[in-house]
Amino acid sequence: MKKPLANIGILLLLIIILPPLFFTSYEIGNLYQNEKMIDSIYTRQLESVIFSINQYSDDIVSRWANQLENDIQKHNSVSKENIDGFISQNASIQLLLVADSVIINSIYHKKDNIEISDLNKDYFSNVINDNDKIIKRLIQYMDGGYRKIQPVDIDFPDHSLFLFAVKQSEKKVIMCGIVVNTLGFIKENLGPKIQSVARDEFYFSVFDNETDEEVYSNELYETPEKNIEHKKPLWLMPDYQLGIQIKGDTIENLVQERTNFNIWIILLMDLILLLAAILVYRSLRQQMKLAQLKSEFVSNVSHEIRTPLAIINMYSETLEMDRIKDEKRKKDYYRIINTEANRLSGIVNKILNFSKIESGKRDYKFLETDINIVINQVVEQYQHHFNRKEFICNLELADNLPKLMVDSEAITDALINLIDNAIKYSTDKKQFDIISGLSNKGVTVEVADYGIGIEDKYQKLVFDKFYRVTLGNLAHKAKGSGIGLSIVNHIMKAHNGSITLISKPNVGSRFILNFPL
Ligand code: ADP
Repeated sequence: MKKPLANIGILLLLIIILPPLFFTSYEIGNLYQNEKMIDSIYTRQLESVIFSINQYSDDIVSRWANQLENDIQKHNSVSKENIDGFISQNASIQLLLVADSVIINSIYHKKDNIEISDLNKDYFSNVINDNDKIIKRLIQYMDGGYRKIQPVDIDFPDHSLFLFAVKQSEKKVIMCGIVVNTLGFIKENLGPKIQSVARDEFYFSVFDNETDEEVYSNELYETPEKNIEHKKPLWLMPDYQLGIQIKGDTIENLVQERTNFNIWIILLMDLILLLAAILVYRSLRQQMKLAQLKSEFVSNVSHEIRTPLAIINMYSETLEMDRIKDEKRKKDYYRIINTEANRLSGIVNKILNFSKIESGKRDYKFLETDINIVINQVVEQYQHHFNRKEFICNLELADNLPKLMVDSEAITDALINLIDNAIKYSTDKKQFDIISGLSNKGVTVEVADYGIGIEDKYQKLVFDKFYRVTLGNLAHKAKGSGIGLSIVNHIMKAHNGSITLISKPNVGSRFILNFPL
């Protein structure tokens, strides 16, 4: 039976366990892939938000350039009144320079800005000269109808210069430069846009590239969860980076949490499958064991029935042929036939009993009974049998036992089964005791023998149907069907009682029936 079981085990492993295991490893791999994909999608989304802010800053300066161009074209020149108006309209604008290609014509600036003044005309002339290639390209673009805003490095801390071309007339393109206060531009011009994009969903911060210091934030108060990792340079202010973070948990954490959750679910499913496979395997093993025990039962019972039948057959044939003349021998033969017929009916009764119990059809008639009377009746009935087997039945019955509600017929069956076993499994000492008494739980009836005993590991199993201890010479040789003790166990349960076994190999066994009061 071990080999088919091992095969079933392997089959189960192949069918139930391996596919989910493959699936699990595949899914876990997939999850990590998905995690990466989701992460990259989120990152791209964040970057596109940053892109839209950058685009907006470009639009602001383009709008300024358009406004300037309109003014210049209207007056066909750059007049100080217009420029002053233009500069004062926008708080972040500090200075405007107008150049005829690479030669600075004029510089206009905020009156209160003492740092940037006419004195710096030379400085800006140098800047323009240093960037002549860029300027030529900007003019070229403008000729083609496209205005590009070009940030240019300057040595004024916290200020940024944007260069762009402007059409003075159909034929003439001039250069303009706007110097803004960088933080002013970020706060006043970009701030409203950042706030409208951020709403309650994002943290935005601007960082100084050099110091990595946060110079602007859309949040008034510091929050511990803020940890901005996604940063991109501001197009018009390359010395600064715009960072963004989703409020609440970070994307990495969200994705990680989801992935972990999914992995746990998959592992849980695997565990359930594994448990199911173990349960299926165990139940299969039990069924196979039962099937094996059943087939042994059939062969045991056939054997038990065949022997008395053969004896009856042989003796009755001899008698029928009238070969025996001696009356005493004839009587002996009749007696043997009678004994074997009794044995046969005992076996058949036992099987019928068992099948009734199995199909749940055994009815019990509980009547108030003196258990000692039942014991005495059984002993009386079987005394002849004990004598023939040369067994001593030692009775130790307690006086004044309370009466019990029992089915006497069932208890008789139980006692006969136990006595039968005591005789079957005894060796040299041909004695068994039947002891009745009171315990703290109720009345006990004990059948004790001095036979081969039962090893500890089999003591629970002997009450299972069809189970027989086949180790040891006598146990192996003794005929039996393996249903006797299971019948006794069932009868005791029907009486709300129990059966206890105390046994030691080669010392003997004590089967104790416990009846509750
Ligand atoms: P069986 O018909 O084989 O006796 P039982 O159900 O009555 O079936 O008993 C189950 C097994 O328990 C027996 O096969 C035997 O190995 C063991 N057994 C039962 N009674 C005794 C006993 N008094 N002494 C030793 N072994 C016993």
